[in-house]
Amino acid sequence: MTLSRKFLARKRIALVAHDNKKDDIKEWAYYNRTILARHQLYATGTTGKLLEETLDQPITKLLSGPLGGDQQLGSLIAEGKVDALIFFWDPMSAQPHDPDIKALLRLGVVWNIPMACNRATADFILTSPLVNEEYEAKQTDFNDYITRKT
Ligand code: PGA
Repeated sequence: MTLSRKFLARKRIALVAHDNKKDDIKEWAYYNRTILARHQLYATGTTGKLLEETLDQPITKLLSGPLGGDQQLGSLIAEGKVDALIFFWDPMSAQPHDPDIKALLRLGVVWNIPMACNRATADFILTSPLVNEEYEAKQTDFNDYITRKT
């Protein structure tokens, strides 16, 4: 049996940027504001506040990343409440919440959501025809794992 999860045409897109990448995400989001306006946006606290002003569009804001926002996003992904993650993380600075970042990226892979960690990939995702269509994302069957004898 093939498992899948349906993404609706209106996607729930999560946006996160580390401090050194905030100007980049702001510029990227403004450039793509018409496409983003068709979707429902989530973000970690500071990124969300910045982008709400930039886009003039309501964004569901979680806690700031280092205070638990990345973990909140991971939880939403695991619950099937986020369809894509745009995460401009900073490859040149150590982050206090490095384990949370790793956990967030891991859950994006576990639940097979599109994830962009740089601007080029983010452009590819937003310009894909699938961003405005329903999509059946294949899901790994974890039943053997869930029902394993310990
Ligand atoms: P912030 O968090 O949007 O609150 O700055 C981003 C992060 O560091 O994960």
